Amino acid sequence: MRMRDTFIIPGAALVLTAAAAGSTGAQQNPLLAEWSGPYGGVPPFGQVGVEHFQPALEAAMAQSLADIERIAANPEAPTFQNTIEAMEGEGRALGRVSTVYSIWSGTMNTPEFAAVEREMAPRLAAFGDQVTQNEALFRRIAAVYQSPDTTRLTPEQRRLTWRYYTNFVRAGARLDAPAKARLSEINQRLAALYTQFSQNVLADETDQTMVLRDTAELAGLPASLVAAAAAAAQARNEPGAWVITNTRSSIDPFLTYSTRRDLRERAWRMFVNRGDNGGAHDNNAAITEILRLRAERATLLGYPTHAHWRLENAMAGTPERAMQLMEAVWTPAVARVRQEVADMEQVAAAEGTPVDVQPWDYRFYMEKVRKARYDLDQNQVKPYLQLERLREGMFWVAGELFGFDFTPVADVPVYHPDVRVWEVKDRATGRHVGLWYFDPYARPGKRSGAWMNAYRSQERFQGEVTTLVSNNSNFVKGAPGEPVLISWDDARTLFHEFGHALHGLSSSVSYPSLSGTAVARDYVEFPSQLLEHWLSTPQVLQRFATHYQTGEPIPQALVDRIEAASTFNQGFATVEYLASALVDMKLHLAGSATIDPDAFERQTLAELGMPDEIVMRHRTPQFGHVFSSDGYSAGYYSYLWSDVITADAAEAFTQAPGGLYDADVARRLRESIFSVGNTIDPAEGYRRFRGRDPQIEALMRKRGFPTGTSGN
Ligand SMILES: [Zn+2]
Repeated sequence: MRMRDTFIIPGAALVLTAAAAGSTGAQQNPLLAEWSGPYGGVPPFGQVGVEHFQPALEAAMAQSLADIERIAANPEAPTFQNTIEAMEGEGRALGRVSTVYSIWSGTMNTPEFAAVEREMAPRLAAFGDQVTQNEALFRRIAAVYQSPDTTRLTPEQRRLTWRYYTNFVRAGARLDAPAKARLSEINQRLAALYTQFSQNVLADETDQTMVLRDTAELAGLPASLVAAAAAAAQARNEPGAWVITNTRSSIDPFLTYSTRRDLRERAWRMFVNRGDNGGAHDNNAAITEILRLRAERATLLGYPTHAHWRLENAMAGTPERAMQLMEAVWTPAVARVRQEVADMEQVAAAEGTPVDVQPWDYRFYMEKVRKARYDLDQNQVKPYLQLERLREGMFWVAGELFGFDFTPVADVPVYHPDVRVWEVKDRATGRHVGLWYFDPYARPGKRSGAWMNAYRSQERFQGEVTTLVSNNSNFVKGAPGEPVLISWDDARTLFHEFGHALHGLSSSVSYPSLSGTAVARDYVEFPSQLLEHWLSTPQVLQRFATHYQTGEPIPQALVDRIEAASTFNQGFATVEYLASALVDMKLHLAGSATIDPDAFERQTLAELGMPDEIVMRHRTPQFGHVFSSDGYSAGYYSYLWSDVITADAAEAFTQAPGGLYDADVARRLRESIFSVGNTIDPAEGYRRFRGRDPQIEALMRKRGFPTGTSGN
């Protein structure tokens, strides 16, 4: 199982997607201007400074509120056009500013920018509440939703109307005035806490490092890792030393290869204690307050818990259904961990150094077992996995499945010299589809992990607007002139994020609120997880997995060993993920109890029977998915939910005559999944693609667990 540390940043972080033309004051502030230049306009990165954000957000919020006031005060009777469609058209300036703001937040987060974020986060939350608490506006939305005339609307228009109505109700539009006021207070306080939470984690990831000064401390590390550590030391003015930074992309390989058990333990403790070190960057108090406020908000809104509120509009529908799936997978996954640990102890004993496996040993011995059992050495694979060649491979897959062509462009401004841009065109018609921005390398101020960010969503109700989308990751930049070699896991992540990008680029809908990746949280990882499957196809490997020195394609024997090892280590991967997902759900099912995060985590894991050899993939004090926004709160299970669908969908391909490149299945995938955004119920879209509902057995097969349970 591949639970990526990835998530989607919605095009507009606000309740409503964006809009509205006006350009008051835009002359002074580049963020407020219409996006100009080629491809229907592009973000004005070259002109943006940190000082522009606050005034631009303030002006854009004011403008959006004026637009909304006008829609709400319209003397004509409410109609779809003068209410719902008008809402889709308003707030354009705010959408543009928020997009660039989110890019700075994730990738250019300097102390100056962080100060702006702390100031603006609560005010943006208050703005969102001002919109959803506008009574005249809600009366109009409700009138359109309840009108018998909706039968004359297109299915997409009916779904959009339903979505507005539901979103407003879920945000408290039907509450009385005191309850609304309290709700708004809660949301503003939460926004401040989310910002504080992310900034604390980023501070621990940036400020804490493990500095090595003696070559003996490099024992076991592959040359690429040593070079990266030397480069990191150089960047931090530690010439002659080696720096292991406190991010997953440098800690995981260190834990895999370092033969120095003492240093592995030190690196592991530094990483798993992010946000949990006492002092100024400790997140425990913030978490307790976030959980308390979320519980209070759920009660105000009429739900038993925060989890019930969050799950209501997800595909799962209820926390119980999500828990049922997680529990069905937990038991076989833990059983697999017992086998994995036994294998490790056997390997260690055979080497004459028996070991009692601790969490900082797991990756190290796992790699030994991989070598012993599958004759597969990650360091033999890496020379064939050049970042830029794999990017070409992804483009080729997008050509085969989606008919897209990618061409590099130089006439588009970027926010950092590392960022590159490609134009995407439809191969058959030559039509411009959109732009793909690529920001591959780690740097200070960029948060860890990998993610997709939609800068602009496709829409056509006021003329065709094309997609601008970016993929972001944290590969360690190699020495100048050297190709960046990545691991097999990283290659899968690359394809995963590209799947999100293709979801955005394939969109063909009328309204921006329903476009591209604006789908249910537990469905959105399905297109991206599905795309991971094309990496290991011979078509990709033979042409694009070529040795960086000899140009030879990866040997078939090596590919066979990779395939044979594909269910290897699924116990570890599933358990470290599920432990996080279960703790997330239980934290949000606990209601109004005051929670001590460390104690709750310990107790919950003990009750679950968490193996001692494994730690949660994201411990509570650093669990950004859950505490840096509402986004994946009570929603980390989504990766598993989506993967049930993914595994089932992949079998639709492998059972077809053309396998993963079967043209008919690919066409159904585009028509029923990738292009429809949120214009139809995802369950219905999936049935159109597959002819039935997803079944869990494919997932169990994919992970090498015994099947026998059913349903999802
Ligand atoms: Zn993802």
